[in-house]
Amino acid sequence: MPLIWQAMETPEPFWKTKRLDEMSQAEWESLCDGCGRCCLNKLIYEDGTEQGQLCYTNVACRLLDLHECRCTHYETRQRHVPDCVSLTPAALREINWLPPSCAYRRLDEGRDLLWWHPLVSGDPETVHSAGVSVRGRAVGERQAGPLDHHIVDWPGKIPRRRRPDTSENPTD
Ligand code: SF4
Ligand code: SF4
Repeated sequence: MPLIWQAMETPEPFWKTKRLDEMSQAEWESLCDGCGRCCLNKLIYEDGTEQGQLCYTNVACRLLDLHECRCTHYETRQRHVPDCVSLTPAALREINWLPPSCAYRRLDEGRDLLWWHPLVSGDPETVHSAGVSVRGRAVGERQAGPLDHHIVDWPGKIPRRRRPDTSENPTD
């Protein structure tokens, strides 16, 4: 009897098949890559436009663990930091300060997740090894002093670091 090979199709991951507003809470939360960039303080300078000029700083919210790049009080964070924004699909439309690497922003703009995202790599460390997270680059707001001494541009950029074991570059 001849062997019949049946191609096993790998199902597409949820972030490719569901809209952001169709995702379960667990799926939504898993989109966060743990970079910590959104937890850096920002400054907005008046420049004559409605939105002003957004400047990132390397000064992290006092609740951010600077090594793990995760909120130390995530569930109760708004009790401690009342202006911490809860991301929702609707809120994404109003927010202009998410970094270009952010999974929520990327998917909302119709882009895919990049190789270092833990959902793609299967490894929560790749967001750090790829130079995407704030690990080693952020300072705590209690130590920092004036925010305008800490303006940096790297949170607004995507590192072009290659995958460690392939010649493939991240694509945008
Ligand atoms: S910038 Fe986006 S992906 Fe990174 S920690 Fe914030 S919400 Fe998560
Ligand atoms: S309260 Fe937590 S989630 Fe909010 S900005 Fe601070 S560290 Fe980030």
